[in-house]
Amino acid sequence: MAKLFDTHSHYTDEKLFGNEELLREIFAGDIGYILTAAVNAEDSEKCAALASQYENMFASAGIHPEEIEKISDIPAEVAKLERYLAHEKCVALGEIGLDYYWEKAYAAEQKKLFERQMALAAEANLPVIIHDREAHGDTFDIIKKYEGKVTGVMHCYSGHAEMVREYVKMGWYISFAGAITFKNAQKAVESTRAVPLDRILVETDCPYLAPVPKRGKTNHSGFLHYTAEFTAGVLGVDYEAFAEATTANAKKLFKIQ
Ligand SMILES: [Zn+2]
Repeated sequence: MAKLFDTHSHYTDEKLFGNEELLREIFAGDIGYILTAAVNAEDSEKCAALASQYENMFASAGIHPEEIEKISDIPAEVAKLERYLAHEKCVALGEIGLDYYWEKAYAAEQKKLFERQMALAAEANLPVIIHDREAHGDTFDIIKKYEGKVTGVMHCYSGHAEMVREYVKMGWYISFAGAITFKNAQKAVESTRAVPLDRILVETDCPYLAPVPKRGKTNHSGFLHYTAEFTAGVLGVDYEAFAEATTANAKKLFKIQ
């Protein structure tokens, strides 16, 4: 049985943090690897420390766009990430991007924070994890500026199939979470079909967005197979082949042996 790679989770979230038994069970099951994603500088430190405790857990360091209201000096805040990016278990810069659903009023500041972190990723030669909520055009424009210098993954992607094709052309990966299993996810299903098997990743984004049939529960990597099975079905690929491909894709993107 090929093991899955949960490429986006938040095990430092209070709903999951400290639950060592749960992580032991998850790694004993069908999960081979987990990336726990950071949302700010302090969380980047926490993610690296947590990842150090498990052989196959990795971390990212980065500042989420929803943090914008709390930040007064963007360059100083981004500079704090450098030491966490150098950590041996840190394999990506993220999650970063734009969120016009929650933080539309701070669009200009969000773009500055995002661009500053893209520049840092180019310098550090690390892939990025992108959060793009209702900001598809502006997110694409900033990523396009770094074409050839920075690649990464569009996490829990909600854009159209045409956008997916553009990212794939630029060498990017696309990841879908549990929301794809919801009844109203027709757009995400169509976008999935635009991703070649060598560019698709899977994630839980736990503790949020538990897939059907666990919708409404606290999500964790043990539920990832529901999303993986659903997505494999959408692509018309056998589950085993899908699990093998998505894990290999994630290891390639995050440069894990
Ligand atoms: Zn996330």
